[in-house]
Amino acid sequence: MTQTEDRIPLSTEDTPLVPIEKIVSLCKRRGFVYPNSEIYGGVSGIYDFGPLGVELRNNIRRYWWWSMVQTNDNVVGIEGSIITHPRVWEASGHVDSFVDRLVDCKNCKRRFRVDHLPKENLEQNKCPVCGGELTEPRTFNLMMETYIGVVEGERMKTYLRGEACQNIYLDYDNVLKSSRMQVPFGICQIGKAFRNEVTPGNFLFRQREFEQWDLQFLVHPSEMQKWFEYWKARRFEWYKGIINHTDRLHFREHGPDELAHYAKQAFDIEYRSILGWQEWEGIHWRQDWDLSRHSQFSGQDLSYTDPETKERYIPWIVETSGGVDRTFLFLLLDAYEEEPPSDKDKEGRTVLRLHPWFAPVKVAVLPLQKNKPELVTTAKDIHKRLQRLMVSQYDDVANIGRRYRRQDEIGTPFCVTVDFQTLEDQTVTVRERDGMTQIRLHIDELPAYLLERVRWDYNA
Ligand code: ATP
Repeated sequence: MTQTEDRIPLSTEDTPLVPIEKIVSLCKRRGFVYPNSEIYGGVSGIYDFGPLGVELRNNIRRYWWWSMVQTNDNVVGIEGSIITHPRVWEASGHVDSFVDRLVDCKNCKRRFRVDHLPKENLEQNKCPVCGGELTEPRTFNLMMETYIGVVEGERMKTYLRGEACQNIYLDYDNVLKSSRMQVPFGICQIGKAFRNEVTPGNFLFRQREFEQWDLQFLVHPSEMQKWFEYWKARRFEWYKGIINHTDRLHFREHGPDELAHYAKQAFDIEYRSILGWQEWEGIHWRQDWDLSRHSQFSGQDLSYTDPETKERYIPWIVETSGGVDRTFLFLLLDAYEEEPPSDKDKEGRTVLRLHPWFAPVKVAVLPLQKNKPELVTTAKDIHKRLQRLMVSQYDDVANIGRRYRRQDEIGTPFCVTVDFQTLEDQTVTVRERDGMTQIRLHIDELPAYLLERVRWDYNA
């Protein structure tokens, strides 16, 4: 994580892994994430995002978009629809083979994905939790079906997209014709995907409706290896740049039995949390598989002609595919800390050490006392001024210590306190979340001071 002068480096190895229940509870309590349709008993694997959650989510999305699309001259973005022609999913192989194999424990009734079972349990047909006997594997397709049209008999069955990236292949030719992009270049997209996951769980980690971000980078076959290495390294640095505990990030290379037949290699960027090492993003060697398949199924020629050499070929593709929701969850797991009482904070506190880029609220403006109209008016004026530049929150409920703690818990990087001295010399206290350091600044200096510290930065 890039450190501003105020940020203090964190110890990493000795920080305990955060139980997921703490994050679930914080998310519900403070309005980050709610269970979907809760008043009807909920739907497994589907969530809603509350007032703070939507801010965090938007910041995550915008930062990815900015660093992948807007700061790269050789990358453009699209936003494709969730519903496409059903043939898309035949061409992609999802209709036939987007399946999970599943076993149930006859004793404790728990359900497991075969590919997630430890090897010895699979060999001995034994439940990893209670040791009971497992059923024969059953196969389930993960695609969610839907229908287009209203008249029975004319309705067309199709699917909610199982992965967002298919739109990129479908729009590749349009992008080529409508922009001045030339191979090598990339197309990005962020969008919802839907999977009838057989074992949803672990909060946002495995959902049935979730959001993916993809880069599909199109290259000449002779340059595939070079670009694969390039994006693999860049994406790893990107993730390293947004977390505190950088020792919790690594690559896992896919073994030969995991690789798709067209893939020479594949790597997952994994994060270590209480869930163990788990995939955050995949870097995939897709070769010409997708464009060739869509050429074949649609009958459209999707080859590319090099404007200089006139060589005609189907571009090969490097894919980097990650999840907005896993980023949301892993950022919270990475940032959450319960600090014991200290000289600086007698009661101890829960603090979300989120990067200021992502913090849902950038600054809280607090009058020292609520019953002093001059303090309240000045604080509200400052809040209104800052609100034009960043997300600012005005808060005058409870004593100042409690208000600081409330902001720490949602990751607000700065609190501005208006006190009696403000009325005399127009200065305020600026308290920084991580080190709890305080400085005094003139009100007019605030916007530049804060903007410099919450603005995006990215060294690609
Ligand atoms: P897994 O092996 O965990 O099922 P996957 O390899 O099928 O994941 P991809 O199809 O490569 O995942 O999807 C790209 C990214 O989308 C993943 O790295 C992950 O961040 C995210 N993702 C995939 N499935 C889910 C899900 N059910 N819930 C939330 N995010 C998901």
